[in-house]
Amino acid sequence: MPCRHWNDTQLTERENHMVQALRPRIGVNKDTQFFWDGLKGGKLLIQHCQNCDQLQHPPGACCKHCQSFDLGAIESCGRGEIHSFVRMHHPIQPPFEAGHPIILVQLEEGTRIIAGFINSTPEQVRIGEKVRLTITRCDDEVTLALFEPA
Ligand code: ZN
Repeated sequence: MPCRHWNDTQLTERENHMVQALRPRIGVNKDTQFFWDGLKGGKLLIQHCQNCDQLQHPPGACCKHCQSFDLGAIESCGRGEIHSFVRMHHPIQPPFEAGHPIILVQLEEGTRIIAGFINSTPEQVRIGEKVRLTITRCDDEVTLALFEPA
């Protein structure tokens, strides 16, 4: 029998993940639970301060404007435009391809959200491009708010 390296099993699992590479796991805590639950239910929820009527994203423990803990959420219409973007070139990390666009969306509600940009051509990755939400179930654990050209 050939000598087995201590991590032969890990390599096999890693190779399996290369075939079906998963997106990074999401970080859920008490402050963000509503956001991830909303996506699983098909809604993009934006934290709303009941005290000063401001929106904030990403969610926090208290309002960044008035420090109130009286927070709720509104459902975003999912429309907006690209405020800024980057292209991820390095490191190449499956399931992403080199040049994968990551956009900062200015939502119609007035707040911004960072998201992946799918179903797009390189020419559509530009500031001011109109985009729309496409809630995407990536696997059993991860459902994301991704955007595509409107
Ligand atoms: Zn507030």
